[in-house]
Amino acid sequence: MIEISGLRKYVTAGGKRVRLEAQIKFVDTDADYPADTLYFETRSDCGSMFAADTYDAFFIIGLYLAMYHKTPLRIRGNVSKKLYKNAQWYIQKILCDFSADLAPVDVIVDGFAPTKGNGRLIGTGISCGVDSLATIYDRFVKETDRDYRINALFIFNCGTHGDFDSPDTQIIFNSRIKRAAAVADELKLPLVVVDTNLHRFRNKRNKSTVMFISMYACVLSLQNAVKRYYIPSGCSYQGIKDYGDRAHHNDLATACDSYLIPLIQSERTELIVDGCQRRRVDKIKDLTNWAIARKYLNVCLLQRGADTTNCGKCSKCLRTLLALEILGKLDDFAQVFNVDDYRKGSLMYKAHCLDSADTETFYRELVDLAAERKFRMPVKKTCYVLDGDVVVMED
Ligand SMILES: [Zn+2]
Repeated sequence: MIEISGLRKYVTAGGKRVRLEAQIKFVDTDADYPADTLYFETRSDCGSMFAADTYDAFFIIGLYLAMYHKTPLRIRGNVSKKLYKNAQWYIQKILCDFSADLAPVDVIVDGFAPTKGNGRLIGTGISCGVDSLATIYDRFVKETDRDYRINALFIFNCGTHGDFDSPDTQIIFNSRIKRAAAVADELKLPLVVVDTNLHRFRNKRNKSTVMFISMYACVLSLQNAVKRYYIPSGCSYQGIKDYGDRAHHNDLATACDSYLIPLIQSERTELIVDGCQRRRVDKIKDLTNWAIARKYLNVCLLQRGADTTNCGKCSKCLRTLLALEILGKLDDFAQVFNVDDYRKGSLMYKAHCLDSADTETFYRELVDLAAERKFRMPVKKTCYVLDGDVVVMED
């Protein structure tokens, strides 16, 4: 059994930080994690955002771990009735379909948390990637309805910046906070930073899944303040239909976040999946019109310590650069990419896109965009595959 208990909120770091914490025990379970507490932490001026009257944030990660270890989950306290029912009836089934590593489990809770919320914040995460900036562009810059317009930005240290124990993680996170703070400043929006240790409870096999669950848990930890939160999705509805099934065991976001995330919510905090309504290349097209994106777009996968600028060579950099080239906007993004380097080596990447368009949604989108805009890509007769690599013969 996994047992979660002892929920408490307290001031730490000499009054500078506030922590929301619970104990986790693995009873008669074959698990050996290097911690026995789960926590979320923020600056003391944001500490009131943490809800200490519900275990929801701990419940969602505890549920995943219980399913992974195939053992019951016992919460010694209250959770949202809505989240509890969704977990029992739907979430467990979706997660089991996603991964054969997971099994349905019994969940026992003491009771249910208050349903009345006073949250006023409408938020989203700011990674400065395409999906994140597109959500901010749509739901802040273009939105006028105060009930749905973003009024706060968030950045979570929950695994997207590296492993919990890696010394580089905090360095990378700090660098990204700096960029996020600069954008928040220009948009005159508050930036809330949350640290957590949930990604300490993951292994190589379930790394990305725990990262996504931890992100949703961070939102649920802030129920005193957040009434609505947009999770930017990386995949279009069409892409999910065509390619989602291939993401099983691997990419929770592509496989099922479009229907999983709307179930991860309480009576006080709603999570909304934003961005599936169009292709990533269409988001990039919109962002070319926004000065903030031209100045701050950051998509790079490569982690190089404090240097979190775009490398221009990894798969995410290249797919963004090719979309910009097809759209005729490459030079507009010379502040954030080395476009000269890209031009020298782009032919190989284009050939790779053509070769992979039937297996991955983002390559398909790029090939389709090129066709729509009559952009000249390499033709198949000039490419061949050698030892798994695409080789291009200049035509
Ligand atoms: Zn890169």
